[in-house]
Amino acid sequence: MSIRIYNTLTQKKEVFKPIEEGKVKMYVCGPTVYNYIHIGNARPAIVFDTVRRYLEFRGYEVKYVSNFTDVDDRIIKAANENNEDVFSLADRFIRAYFEDIAALGCLKAAHHPRVTENMDIIIHFIKGLIDKDFAYESDGDVYFRTKKFQEYGKLSHQSIDDLRLGARIEVGEKKQDPLDFALWKAAKPGEVYWESPWGKGRPGWHIECSAMAREYLGDTIDIHAGGQDLTFPHHENEIAQSESLTGKPFANYWMHNGYINIDNEKMSKSLGNFVLVHDIITQHDPNVLRFFMLSVHYRHPINYSEELLNNAKSALERLQTSYQNLKHRLEASTNLVEDDQKWLDQIANFHNQFIEEMDDDFNTANAISVLFEVSKLANYYLMEKNTSPVVIRKFLETFEQFFNVLGLELTKDQLLDEEIEQLITKRNEARKNRDFHTADQIRDQLKEMNIVLEDTPQGTRWKRS
Ligand SMILES: [Zn+2]
Repeated sequence: MSIRIYNTLTQKKEVFKPIEEGKVKMYVCGPTVYNYIHIGNARPAIVFDTVRRYLEFRGYEVKYVSNFTDVDDRIIKAANENNEDVFSLADRFIRAYFEDIAALGCLKAAHHPRVTENMDIIIHFIKGLIDKDFAYESDGDVYFRTKKFQEYGKLSHQSIDDLRLGARIEVGEKKQDPLDFALWKAAKPGEVYWESPWGKGRPGWHIECSAMAREYLGDTIDIHAGGQDLTFPHHENEIAQSESLTGKPFANYWMHNGYINIDNEKMSKSLGNFVLVHDIITQHDPNVLRFFMLSVHYRHPINYSEELLNNAKSALERLQTSYQNLKHRLEASTNLVEDDQKWLDQIANFHNQFIEEMDDDFNTANAISVLFEVSKLANYYLMEKNTSPVVIRKFLETFEQFFNVLGLELTKDQLLDEEIEQLITKRNEARKNRDFHTADQIRDQLKEMNIVLEDTPQGTRWKRS
């Protein structure tokens, strides 16, 4: 069995073959840090973290790099509006980004390079392009000579002629051809700048990914990924820059995730329907948001609504409850049972199915369906009078492996036991003070969480029902 990836470059599913056996070099375009991330930014973070987790599960060593665009027009504008310098504003939102994606279960990358910390390598890259005549300086700006890169358009499947039809040189632009794009922009008065061979300025957006991917991963990488909206022009331009400089393929597999709609409408500033991750996770378990995102194939569009998120919550809870029930039964299972093998075979079957689905272009939607089959089988097994620890352990292990691949948590709250103990202490105090109303309230609250109390002469015992 082998992993197949849909490659935007060839528009086909291809068998995944890394450059170096057993190792994967992966670059994912990161956010421009001028605000908290919205759920549109969360999708690639979650999706490609899952791709990485799965590749690791399948035995690959993955070197994952994701950048921060920490200087650009929007950051400069936001900093001016806030009366803050660009560095502290970007820093603030980088910290917020790390908090948000950690809550969503995303692992840290090997490197999270920032533009402002890699200015030398970016300038060096641009110089290389000028030396090869793929770029030219024009009055303090530097532009890429697009028509010189003959394969331009190969990722977004457009021809140079078609692209030229809609292109214009805007007033104030200093380029020679409408398709040329900026690698370096001369600083406007009062703007933050870096010194360069072409004067004071800062890099254009596309060049940072070419330069940083090369610096941290090498000339050719295995997987380059990002949101579908980045295919053109961002990724097309990255290919043009990188391949013109090195003469080698830039990335072997290009992966793009689909759009997110909010209540069936496109998310946009003008509609005012931006949903920030920072806000959602104060109201919902971030695990639920991750589960929701993964319940749709990453290339398909996804529709977000409160109702769908609540459905995802109940679905995830069904799986978690199944796992908890198995855990509690484990303690009561001591005997080996004759038909163990029958159950173990069925679990192994689902295990293989899960791998088949994930191998098929990371089909998390179908993989989650397999998880529900495992849960159904587990619930059915728990109705048996005699259960065997061998079978229960296999169920538990299967849940744990799959949840780990999907980056989801099986137990809702690590502090649950401690919280229960605290509530019981509070209830006992209330009873001592003859405040039976409060005592009953606490008992009911625990009952709702499936915790049953038993008052004995030795004190209060509790168990999960
Ligand atoms: Zn990029």
